[in-house]
Amino acid sequence: MQGYVSTKVKKALKVGERVSKRNFPFIKNNIIANSVEGTYEEAMTEWEFVGILDEENVERFVPRCQLCNQPGLRINFEIHNPDTRKRFLVGSSCIKKFLVLKGTSSLEESWDFFVRQSIRYASLDDLRYFANDVLASENIQVHQIRRLRKLVADVLGLPDQCSLNSAVFEKKEDWDGLVHYLIGSNDGSDQVWRKKLERIKMILFSPSKLIKKQKLLDTGEKDGHWANIGRKNTRVDTTLSRSEAYKNPAKKN
Ligand SMILES: [Zn+2]
Repeated sequence: MQGYVSTKVKKALKVGERVSKRNFPFIKNNIIANSVEGTYEEAMTEWEFVGILDEENVERFVPRCQLCNQPGLRINFEIHNPDTRKRFLVGSSCIKKFLVLKGTSSLEESWDFFVRQSIRYASLDDLRYFANDVLASENIQVHQIRRLRKLVADVLGLPDQCSLNSAVFEKKEDWDGLVHYLIGSNDGSDQVWRKKLERIKMILFSPSKLIKKQKLLDTGEKDGHWANIGRKNTRVDTTLSRSEAYKNPAKKN
């Protein structure tokens, strides 16, 4: 796992494939030919942005943008026209210059939306790999905690990782979705899963407690001490567990 996807995506957003003016008519015709409407102004609004592909995804990744044919891509952005069912893997420049993505109403608005969405997709990708390593290891390093918090903050669309400490999930599904994404689902009977869940909560909502606790471990406590602590305090006191949304629905009234 060298080169985090989100780093590559941010780079690809900053410097897209080079599209020369000469190619504009070719690109516009390409869009029209794969849309329902016959004019560029209408055809450009039919597309949605559905995901990103890293170059390491060798089965699907294409080094050339499928709209302008420029080479040198390291990230593919996938667009889809739900009416014609056409899909293209493209570079960021073509999206920036030629598409008003579904749900937006101008090139500028479309680009803002696209940038935010790209960073979310990329952070999700990174999270999956990273969380696996970090949550399974007995001792988490401070830099790993920071990295995980940054990724989750990006995924949730928060301005920075400090906002996590006071984050409240409006809907229980959002929280469950994040947990599911990080460690899968479980009814709570699996000890390992519960330990990971506790760890996620600490990393996200009270990282300083976790760091302190780990320092205790580092002074010669046996491995596994952590698990005992976790068992005694099955519920960590987080902002999240205080929020209405997080309360166990079974206990409702
Ligand atoms: Zn292109």
